[in-house]
Amino acid sequence: MNTNAVIAIHGGAGTILRASMSASAEADYHAALHAVLSAGQRVLADGGSALDAVSEAVRLLEDCPLFNAGRGAVYTAAGTHELDAAIMDGSTLDAGAICCVTRVRNPILAARRVLERSEHVLFTGAGAEAFAAAQGLEFVEPEYFHTEARHRQWQLARGQDRAMLDHDGATLASNNDDPTPHEPIDPNRKFGTVGAVALDQHGHVAAATSTGGVTNKQVGRVGDTPLIGAGCYADDATCAVSTTGSGEMFMRMVAAYDVAAQMAYRNVSLEEAAHDVVTNRLPKIDGRGGLIAVDARGNITLPFNTEGMYRGFARIGETPVTAIYR
Ligand code: ASP
Repeated sequence: MNTNAVIAIHGGAGTILRASMSASAEADYHAALHAVLSAGQRVLADGGSALDAVSEAVRLLEDCPLFNAGRGAVYTAAGTHELDAAIMDGSTLDAGAICCVTRVRNPILAARRVLERSEHVLFTGAGAEAFAAAQGLEFVEPEYFHTEARHRQWQLARGQDRAMLDHDGATLASNNDDPTPHEPIDPNRKFGTVGAVALDQHGHVAAATSTGGVTNKQVGRVGDTPLIGAGCYADDATCAVSTTGSGEMFMRMVAAYDVAAQMAYRNVSLEEAAHDVVTNRLPKIDGRGGLIAVDARGNITLPFNTEGMYRGFARIGETPVTAIYR
């Protein structure tokens, strides 16, 4: 039995505008992160697998409208939602992912079914939805994913008449007379993808990541989240990783896999490998964001190169720790 069992989660990284922070919004985020960590911690304490713990944590984060995944996902340029998710089991290297789905309530559950019940790894669009339907997963009307905050954010991005990554909203935020964002991290400048990594009592690791992508993205655009090795990776021999940030750069750096590869090939610690990816390699191509990672010994690291990242971790029998700022 591994007594270092632990779960870590993130709810996106980005720029903090302290001026727009309300105490109650901050409390809401801490409470949401705490509840999700407690649920994941219970799975691990009951002897459940890391795979079960990360699935459950990400499912709950998808259902929470505060985060850009599942309900609360950002809008495409066409005013629709397209969701991506991936999950990987470090004990077998089995993986499953789906992208560009529009009506699957919990994309992470569809990714999990791909992992468990398909010979393939990644399904897209109509094929992904057909697979999810055949698996009996819950479908919702597109309006289910709508939230006022995301819609307002899209209207602002749309006014710029171009596709934009969330963090490009810096300009928007400063030009915008509407002081409505009351989130601790300016919603126009954050990457709200969610993710979880865990080590279970049996010594296995797993990772899961889910997102609505980036605001005003072109229809059909796919980021790093559902790509194994970019937004999600897990291998008992090294670590489990889930990322959030400017997806195109994380794809080009094969960011999640790079953490594992550095541990394997350079023989460095989890901390050192993750730190190198986030603070040295990604910034070289203007990659902004962060990641969470755990190794088979129960070490965890949650680095980011933005001003903040919604994050937390919980070990069995200990109070979950949550944080937003640096
Ligand atoms: N990485 C995600 C994407 O590019 C966005 C995010 O992390 O919020 O789709």
